Amino acid sequence: MKVELLPALADNYMYLLIDNETREAAIVDPVEPQKVVEAVKKHGVNLTTVLTTHHHWDHAGGNAELVKKVPGLQVYGGDDRVGALTCKVSHKKTLQVGSLNVKCLFTPCHTSGHICYFVTKENSSEAPAVFTGDTLFVAGCGKFFEGSGEEMYRALIDILGSLPSETAVTRFRDSRRPHSKDYISRRVYCGHEYTINNLKFARHVEPNNEAIRQKLAWAKEHYDLGKPTIPSTIGEEFTYNPFMRVREKSVQDHVGQKDPISTMDAIRKEKDQFQVPKD
Ligand SMILES: [Zn+2]
Repeated sequence: MKVELLPALADNYMYLLIDNETREAAIVDPVEPQKVVEAVKKHGVNLTTVLTTHHHWDHAGGNAELVKKVPGLQVYGGDDRVGALTCKVSHKKTLQVGSLNVKCLFTPCHTSGHICYFVTKENSSEAPAVFTGDTLFVAGCGKFFEGSGEEMYRALIDILGSLPSETAVTRFRDSRRPHSKDYISRRVYCGHEYTINNLKFARHVEPNNEAIRQKLAWAKEHYDLGKPTIPSTIGEEFTYNPFMRVREKSVQDHVGQKDPISTMDAIRKEKDQFQVPKD
């Protein structure tokens, strides 16, 4: 599979997901339809599918116009408020984009109908990809507009945190890239470029966390070169994302809580008020 990042608006990402075998493609959150049409033309692929993470305008706001430009598209989403929706999906519903398997993951909290899309290819050495919209960001998570800390815990830890890696991937691991963790990890493609600010908050929560310090330096370097900081991996997120680390004592101590769910609520509340430092 190939994932082409298409920056949109101020800091959104659309993703063109291509099945190399059949040249069929899907687009995730096509808020700028013209850019999507151009990318489809450039890659010479057959766009059949829209995967919508949630109904907010900066994600679903381009659906209606894209359907006009590319008739016959199937528009997936988990919320009746998603524009031009043709197929409402629920948890664990599966669909195909060419030879790629897409599993829908219901992750309500940021909005009550939020869906993440987990993409795998059978008998392939390629790492799976997960499109996380405004549920999971690199080093952060979306605001709890329509949900609770308990729901975000379920989304980040129980669902996204336990996605299976493919058997085939494990089989190839030893012979090809023996020591690379990334190789077997689930790649995370999120809805916004918020990485640097998220990591500054993460550093505030855990000042002694070396993974945060390194990722922040890396992200600043990328930003200065005009490069995206996407994707990360689920494995990496567990090392620097405070919302994925609510079971860690260091994170619980920071907000004076003793269990992961009240820590999730408290960390989110603190992040909502956080003044991002300049450096
Ligand atoms: Zn949103």
